[in-house]
Amino acid sequence: SLILGIETSCDETAAALVRRKPDGSGEILSNIVRSQIEEHRAYGGVVPELAARAHVIHLDTIIQTALDEAGVGFDDLSAIAATAGPGLIGGVLVGLTSAKALSAATGKPLIAVNHLEAHVLTPRLTDGIDFPYLVLLVSGGHSQFVLVKGVGDYERWGTTIDDALGEAFDKAAKLLDLGYPGGPEVEKAALGGDARRFDLPRPLLNQKRLDFSFSGLKTALRLAAEAVAPVSEQDCADLCASFQQAVCDIVSARAGMALNQFTARFPGHRPTLVVAGGVAANKTIGAALETVCAQNDARLVVPPLPLCTDNGAMVAWAGAERFALGRQDGFDVVARPRWPLDDADMRILP
Ligand code: ATP
Ligand code: MG
Ligand code: FE
Repeated sequence: SLILGIETSCDETAAALVRRKPDGSGEILSNIVRSQIEEHRAYGGVVPELAARAHVIHLDTIIQTALDEAGVGFDDLSAIAATAGPGLIGGVLVGLTSAKALSAATGKPLIAVNHLEAHVLTPRLTDGIDFPYLVLLVSGGHSQFVLVKGVGDYERWGTTIDDALGEAFDKAAKLLDLGYPGGPEVEKAALGGDARRFDLPRPLLNQKRLDFSFSGLKTALRLAAEAVAPVSEQDCADLCASFQQAVCDIVSARAGMALNQFTARFPGHRPTLVVAGGVAANKTIGAALETVCAQNDARLVVPPLPLCTDNGAMVAWAGAERFALGRQDGFDVVARPRWPLDDADMRILP
């Protein structure tokens, strides 16, 4: 099948063409992403209204570019997939409504894709992995473990009770006057820092649940910064390194627990842990996860970064996986700001 995928749920306007072959493998024919970082930089975060407007302005061109680059036309498509949530509702409406219009005009089936599903199915496109596997999804809007048992068959094993991990990096950068987005800036500043200088908390670490909490860590960082103010360049480096170390300890401990849980559930099955979301770019966190996986005889899979952050190929691929199982959606499908992966209506097979 040949699927057009459209993604507009946050601050990337994206479209892609992906082919799914009969053997279940996939091929990306084009993957066009327009990031809105410049539109939002002055505000230090994504402004929903500006995001929706930018999607309206650019989506047509992005879709046409994706088709041109793949060398295909609407006639060649098997179906049109678009993110229907969760995300910023204005943006989701732009993408989903465009997909409905294209579907109505071309007669091609419509597939409504859950954005989180698109993230967690990506390693099947990039690395061809089989079910079941574990995903740690860490982005600007999400921090959660997902057990992926099949297409449409997910269990959320833990989530953040306050800030997402990428959001925590962004807030840390903001309070230290580093740039936006914050993750890469904090990582860069931490390179010259002493991770042991500030003793920051590791919230929820002694709890049995797989949940995260990052807002207390952010507050502790602010208090530590205030205590040494004015913050010198070295102070800033040490604060970033200490913050990043706390995050690594939390993520490692949680990943270790999740892998144990996986092994208890699927004895004799070597666990696979997949990292998805923009925070997967962080090398220190990646190294910490490598160590945890080695200790647990697990395989770590990190898809190429452009496929970890928001993109159209993941939406097209999730659409292709659903389409292969005979699933498509009517024009009555709605855009949803919230849409948990373990929602009953995700399921395809009874
Ligand atoms: P969503 O949460 O809806 O999937 P998003 O746009 O918020 O979308 P992504 O685009 O996947 O998320 O990732 C962006 C986030 O990743 C930002 O919060 C950013 O700070 C963080 N990030 C990017 N690079 C790094 C890094 N090297 N270290 C830590 N965090 C990073
Ligand atoms: Mg983004
Ligand atoms: Fe995302």
